[in-house]
Amino acid sequence: QQQPAGKLFQFKLVLLGESAVGKSSLVLRFVKDQFDDYRESTIGAAFLTQTICLDDATTVKFEIWDTAGQERYKSLAPMYYRNANCAVVVYDITQSSSLDKAKSWVKELQRQADPNIVIALAGNKSDLSARRVVETESPAVPRGSEQDWIDAKPYADEAGLLFFETSAKTATNVNELFTSIDKTISSQE
Ligand code: GDP
Repeated sequence: QQQPAGKLFQFKLVLLGESAVGKSSLVLRFVKDQFDDYRESTIGAAFLTQTICLDDATTVKFEIWDTAGQERYKSLAPMYYRNANCAVVVYDITQSSSLDKAKSWVKELQRQADPNIVIALAGNKSDLSARRVVETESPAVPRGSEQDWIDAKPYADEAGLLFFETSAKTATNVNELFTSIDKTISSQE
């Protein structure tokens, strides 16, 4: 356990996204640096904390609410994002429906959550690039309505989101994701 040094920030973070995109796995990777291929799904919501030292003078304690993606728990979500400083909205790069779901969460957060909430979009399972269906960025796509955003980075930029493609399995970009959230929030205060 790291000792708090200098300034201590406490952030409440909520994870949202379709079931099985890897929300719990991202938390497990971030908090315990572990990965489990056969983990059981989250029921309702799970609570974890993680303290990280951003630099010598800044410690950040995350209070993490990992919500269940199943439709039947959807009505519980406002309880978790209402007082959140940050939200990680996760999709799976191998499932296009999960990006649509992520966009609907972003819309809900932008309407209903704290106006200062920092939202990050995470395209998880980047290790499965052979099965990728959601592109990072495809310059050839003509832009029109919201439905035309089939690649994630231009959408994230347009919506004002932090954006990372992550893998809970290989740990790619997981610390980068959480550190960038820290930096964004602590620079607001
Ligand atoms: P949640 O329902 O969004 O919390 O998703 P889980 O964390 O339970 O993960 C669902 C399934 O996807 C599990 O079988 C995980 O092992 C797997 N998974 C999660 N993250 C990754 C990843 O980055 N890469 C791969 N290949 N599988 C992953």
